[in-house]
Amino acid sequence: MSWLVQPRLVNGPFDDPGLYLDFRFGRRAILFDLGDLAPLSSRELMRVSHAFVSHTHVDHFAGFDQLLRVCLHRPGPLHLLGPPGFIDRVDHRLQGFTWNLIDETSVDFQIHVGEFWEDRIARKAVFPARQVFMRQDAEISDLPQHVVLSEDDFHIEAVSLDHGIPSLAFALRETQRVNVRRGVLERLGFPKGPWLNRAKSLIRAGTGDADLDIPGIGQISLRDVPEKLFFVGPGQSIAYVTDTAFSEENRDKILFLARDADQLFIEAVFLERDHQLAADSRHLTAFQAGLLARKARVRDLNVFHHSARYLNEPTALRHEAFWAFEQEAPL
Ligand SMILES: [Zn+2]
Ligand SMILES: [Zn+2]
Repeated sequence: MSWLVQPRLVNGPFDDPGLYLDFRFGRRAILFDLGDLAPLSSRELMRVSHAFVSHTHVDHFAGFDQLLRVCLHRPGPLHLLGPPGFIDRVDHRLQGFTWNLIDETSVDFQIHVGEFWEDRIARKAVFPARQVFMRQDAEISDLPQHVVLSEDDFHIEAVSLDHGIPSLAFALRETQRVNVRRGVLERLGFPKGPWLNRAKSLIRAGTGDADLDIPGIGQISLRDVPEKLFFVGPGQSIAYVTDTAFSEENRDKILFLARDADQLFIEAVFLERDHQLAADSRHLTAFQAGLLARKARVRDLNVFHHSARYLNEPTALRHEAFWAFEQEAPL
C-alpha cells in the first residue's frame, strides 16, 4: 500500500507540538504548527510548501524564524495559514529583522499568508522578499467551506476551535488512493518509473484520456492502459487537533474533522484526575482525547503536547488515552 504522505511528530510528546507531513513523491512537505523545528534538517525544511498554524502561542509559532531562515534563499512561495490576526503576527516577526541585504534583484521568495475566520479563509496577504517583505493585500480564492487548500491529489480542511482564543485544527484528505498492482505491471511488461505517478495523478483527478510517455513503449493514452493495473480505494486521511477546550461545540467540530481518519494526532495535556486544570486552561485530558478518537472512528491514535507535570510518569497520559480509545463500551 503506498501512502501519499508520511506523517511524524516533529518533537517528543513533552516538547513543542508540530506535525511534519512528508510527501512520498515530489520532494515536498507540509507542516502543521511551527513550534521548535530543530529536529528537522535544512533539507526537510526546504521542502515545506505550506505551514498551517493552529494559533500563535509561542510553543506553536516560535519555529517560524527557523523556517524563514532556511526558505529565504529559495525561489517560489511559502504558504502560511493561521487564525484571525495571523497576518499581523507574521508581519511583526518579519519587521523584527534587518533586511538591508535584500532588494529587487534577490531570489524571488514570497510568503503568502491566509487567515481562517470561522469556516473559511477571509483574508490574505503577500510579503515578497524583493520588496523587503512589505505587506500587500492578496485575492482570496474561492474554496468550499472548511477547505483551506485544494489540489488534485488531496485537500486540507480546517475547523476553528475555542482555546480561549481561536485555535485551528487541520486534516489532510487524499482524494483517492491509487496503487499499482506490481504483479500486473510485470505481467504486462510495463516498466516502473515516473509515468506511473503521472497516471495515478490523472486517475485521482478523474482525467481518463491524457497521453502517457512510457519508456520503451512510447506514447499511449491512459484509456489504453488496462484498468486492472491500478487499485483505487479511499484516500489517506490525517487529522491534527491541539489546544482546545472540551466543549460541546468543539467536540462536534473535532468529530467532523477527524471522521474516519487513518491517523489522528491529538493533544493529551492532562490526566483525567486533573480535569479541572484542563478545563481552566482550555486543553484536553488524555481520556477526552481517547474518547474523541473512538467517537470519530479513527484507525490510529497518536497523542502529544503532554504537560511537564507528568514527566515522572511519562507513559501515563498515553495509557489513559488508549484506555479510553480502546474501550468496548457503547459510545
Ligand atoms: Zn500549546
Ligand atoms: Zn495554546
